[in-house]
Amino acid sequence: ATAISLRGLSKHFDQVRAVDELDLDVADGEFFSMLGPSGSGKTTVLRLVAGFEEPTAGRILLGDEDVTSKPPFARDVNTVFQDYAIFPHMSVLQNVEYGLRVKKVGKAERRKRAEEALATVRLAEYGGRRPNQLSGGQRQRVALARALVNRPKVLLLDEPLGALDLQLRREMQIELKAIQREVGITFVFVTHDQEEALTMSDRVAVFNEGRIEQLATPVELYERPASSFVAGFVGTSNQLSGAAARAVVGEDGTFAIRPEKIRMSAEAPADTTGLCVARGVVREVVYLGSSTSSVVELDDGPTVTVSHPNTDTSIDAAVERRDQRVVLTWRRDH
Ligand code: ADP
Ligand code: MG
Repeated sequence: ATAISLRGLSKHFDQVRAVDELDLDVADGEFFSMLGPSGSGKTTVLRLVAGFEEPTAGRILLGDEDVTSKPPFARDVNTVFQDYAIFPHMSVLQNVEYGLRVKKVGKAERRKRAEEALATVRLAEYGGRRPNQLSGGQRQRVALARALVNRPKVLLLDEPLGALDLQLRREMQIELKAIQREVGITFVFVTHDQEEALTMSDRVAVFNEGRIEQLATPVELYERPASSFVAGFVGTSNQLSGAAARAVVGEDGTFAIRPEKIRMSAEAPADTTGLCVARGVVREVVYLGSSTSSVVELDDGPTVTVSHPNTDTSIDAAVERRDQRVVLTWRRDH
């Protein structure tokens, strides 16, 4: 079944088309991410779904229900923002209970559900603490518990991990995905961080200027980017322009090849069937711990980045030197 359907959804602010005729279906129980650079319209889509903005055109459905003209409180969604508002003068448990108190849920039921929500975000022992006695990651989990306690059908998360440092963000990414699987709620997760989107999502919509450039699984997105924009925004890729020798003969185009798909050696392999071959000179070698990146200037001009993991068998170390002449090969289908 479908959790959210957007049909021809647009939001204009004067001349700016923040959201531009969007069509989108998010499935029930899906971890769905909206990925894109700053200003591409991600937050506006969330605000439209939550009912904080009125669309210029189009419809919003939650399940089978058209909620386009319904106020926020009549929509079965909750939102978690980056700058999550936690009340500093209340305990963690009181913070989580707060929404239920507003809804006049009875005390015993309130307490039970708040404790459940805290257990879900692995904070069962922290109910009595004050927010200022928690770390950043724990405070973010309180914000999540505050949303989960309402048991919404859909949870909207707008860059919720943006304020955390890298180490903690990585831990929370794994945990958030585990929590989502556990509670089975549809998550719509907004981020500008491609690694974050690839790590957690069932599917990702890549946004650019209020439109979706590509909607795909993380693997598809990385292996088969549909446009130059996606190839550049998701992961690193070398983009070379030229004329296609096959398929569309004579037509100019852009080719994208991932750094780790390129093999670098001193000599061309004996059999180059199915391979693309390019020659050049190593200009830079950058050791990155788990991998090494080399920048190679091709004989016919462009520069490409080649990357390989630092396992002891993966590459002929002799070629990994500046000013070394090398042969690069990669599979045509890559
Ligand atoms: P993102 O979340 O992807 O960074 P936003 O949805 O916040 O993008 O913004 C999309 C575009 O809409 C931007 O150009 C932004 O400046 C504009 N915008 C968003 N909200 C408003 C507003 N309330 N008034 C005017 N312009 C806005
Ligand atoms: Mg935003």
